[in-house]
Parts: sequence; C-alpha cells; structure tokens
Amino acid sequence: MMILSKTTPRSTEILTNFAEIFLCAASRNLLQTYGIKHNLSQCELYCRSLSQEHEIRIALPPIIAKDVGMKTIDLITLRRDFHRAPELGFAENLTKARIAAILTELGLEVFEGVGVVGLLKQGSGNRAIGLRADMDALPIFETSTHDYVSQNPGAMHACGHDGHMTMLLGAAAILAKDPDFDGTVVFLFQPNEEHGLGAQAMLDEGILERFPIQEVYAIHNLPGAPLGQVSTRTGQICSSESLFEIIIEGQGGHASMPQMGRDAITIGAEIVQALQTIVSRKLAPGAGVVVSVTEFITNGQRNVLPGQATLKGDVRARMPQDREAVAKLMKQISEGIAAAHGVSISVAFNTEFIETINASGPTEAVVEAAGAQGLETIPNREPMSFSEDFAHFCQAVPGCLLLVGNGQEGPYGQPLHASNYDFNDALLPIGAAFWAQLVRDRLAKPAGEQGDNV
Ligand SMILES: [Zn+2]
Ligand SMILES: [Zn+2]
Repeated sequence: MMILSKTTPRSTEILTNFAEIFLCAASRNLLQTYGIKHNLSQCELYCRSLSQEHEIRIALPPIIAKDVGMKTIDLITLRRDFHRAPELGFAENLTKARIAAILTELGLEVFEGVGVVGLLKQGSGNRAIGLRADMDALPIFETSTHDYVSQNPGAMHACGHDGHMTMLLGAAAILAKDPDFDGTVVFLFQPNEEHGLGAQAMLDEGILERFPIQEVYAIHNLPGAPLGQVSTRTGQICSSESLFEIIIEGQGGHASMPQMGRDAITIGAEIVQALQTIVSRKLAPGAGVVVSVTEFITNGQRNVLPGQATLKGDVRARMPQDREAVAKLMKQISEGIAAAHGVSISVAFNTEFIETINASGPTEAVVEAAGAQGLETIPNREPMSFSEDFAHFCQAVPGCLLLVGNGQEGPYGQPLHASNYDFNDALLPIGAAFWAQLVRDRLAKPAGEQGDNV
C-alpha cells in the first residue's frame, strides 16, 4: 500500500474500487465453499477484513504498479483461495462454482457443463476467440509452509492451474469493465488437464458447435524462466504421450528343463532390446522421440521359468507421424519376435496426450501482444518435452499455447509437479493484462470506432 498510495495514487484509487466488486464475488463464493451462511453485510465485512491484508501484499515488483484496470491484490487473494482448496480432475466442483459466480458477477453469460464457459460479447462483430485455463490439481502432498497451503491433504495445485484460472478471471474483469473490442470472447475453464481428458470432454460436449471460435489460446507458467518472459513457437510446442503394454503368453516350466517350456522372460528381454532400434534405426536423427520400457513383470519364481511376461512403457513424440510410426513398428517387432519363438503376444498402444501444434497466425498474434505489453519474448523457443491437453483444442481450431516465466527464485523456480512449487503471484496481473491485450488485438474494433477507446 505504501508503494502505490504514495507514488501512484490514481492507480490505487481505481484498483481499490474495482477490488470491491471482484472481492465480493470471490468471497461470497468462498463463504459458501466453507459452508458459512452469510448475507450481503457479512460479505462486505469479509471484503473489509481482507483489505487489511492488502497493505502487506502490495509490495510487489514495479511492473505490477502499472495500471491495468484492476487490483493486483484481489487476484492474489483469489489465487491463494484456489490454492487452499485444490480439487482433482473431474472433481473440480467448488472451483467451478467459484468461477461461475465470479463470471456471473462480472456480467458474463455463463454455461456450466464438464467445465465452465463464460461469454463476453461486445459490438456487432461476429469474430470470436477462445481463452483457456485449466482447473485441476494433482494428487500430491504439499510440503510448502506458507499460510495458504492446501487444506485438502493429498491434493495440491502443483502445476500452477490456480494461477492460470486467476489470470483468466483477471482478464475477464479487465475486459468486462472496459470492453473495447468487437466480437465475442469465450472463456474456457476446463477440467482434468493432468490426465489429458478434460479438453476432449468439453469438445465431446459440443462446446465448439455451441460457441464457435476462430482461434484458441492457452497460457502455461514456466518455472525457472524469468518472470513474465513469454516463449512460444509455431508448430509443435508440446509432446505427445502414449502408454503401451505388451503381454507375452509362453509356457512356464521348470528352471532346470527350459526345453520343456517357452520362457517369456528371454523373449521379453529380446523385445526390450529390439524396441530401442525404433528410435536409433527407424526414425530420422533428431526426431525427438523417446521409447522407454518402464516395467517388466513376469510370473516366474526362483526355480520357475515364467510363462507370462508383461512389458509396459511410455513413448514421447513431437510429430503425429512419428508417433504413428512407433505404434506400427512396436507391433511389428513384438509380433515378429513372438512368431520366431512360437508364443502368442498382444500389443496395446494408447495415446493419452496428442502433440500440441501451434498455428502460425495465432502464434504471431501472441508474440505481438507480448511485445505490446513490454514483455521479453522468445518467438521460437525449443519444443517442450511435457504434454498438454490443450492439444485437443489446437487440433480443432488454430491456436497457440504460450509459456510465461514464473521466476527463478525459491518455490517459483521449482519444477512443475514438485511438492514445494508455487505459482508466482507477481505473474497474475502480467498474465491478465496480456490476455486483455490479445483480445483487443484480435477483436479490434473497425477502424472508424477506434477513437472511442482513447
Ligand atoms: Zn501438470
Ligand atoms: Zn499444468
């Protein structure tokens, strides 16, 4: 408070006024979350009591003092509330209720299905863009010691989805307050990203038929990268993940008489070795494909040759054609070896996450919007080895996933999914302002109406 009130009183005034609305929406729902009966006066009281904390939390990096049309500390409170109450994939019930309440309070049309969709329409333009945030937490016991640790032991927002939701709600707040664009913004809050099921579930519900969009975007925070640094690339940005299971059915027998059986462990070992030739001899060097056998389970014992062996593993690929080639070669190699030894075999290959492919137009738009916000931008970063469920949206509509630096110090630099990771609150207004910029760029008013915004 000291920083803002003494040096930028105008910002403080705007931000404080806006905070009242935003906090009321958030806190009303928070009270419901904890089962506290309330009326409007209690809600206002709650807002006032939270405002005491604001005086401490305002000491943030200078970029936050930038007047982005909302109060940073509201977003911090909201993000920490999300952090305290993490919910696992497809069980994000309280989270969804809070989001729906906030969007409604902001004046958006809200639709609840497996996820939550908020519509903000302005003008007569028929263009529409989708902005996605993920809502689910991970089954991790948090080891952090801050005062907003998970109150749901065994669940934790360890991937920053609490921050992703808050940044997108912040954008909704900015744009609802000052809707200087022409068209429709479709705010997509999706469940169950971590298992790669939520995006597809929303698509299966007919989200895109009901709310057609021409472009779609998503942000993921990136621990270890400088705060607010935007990086992305045209083409593949995240890898696919496929899981496989190979079951060999041989003939068990006595360890001293191998000629009487068909030893599944020897055949399995041959398959493990042969699978490694897919990357080294069948795919182009530098394809970025990984084939890992991670489990080898048999029913053998110290003096019993196994009749059955199961191999399980994980495949990462950067391009769909490489993934398809791995699936085909894995089957061919496994069945060939099984035939050579006269045993039967089954090969299952399931792709849980497809590759995330950024389209060029949306990626250029992201780079431009980041530049307009004064953010350091890497327009052609290395592809990431992790996977993203947002891939399904990108497959349906041209889109772009961008990564935004979460900072390098302390919990902000810890890896995603670490039990002591934390989303950096300083990123909240940066992300929200970036989203608003992108909307205003992509749904710009016709040239004759631009003057209205000045
Ligand atoms: Zn994750
Ligand atoms: Zn994530």
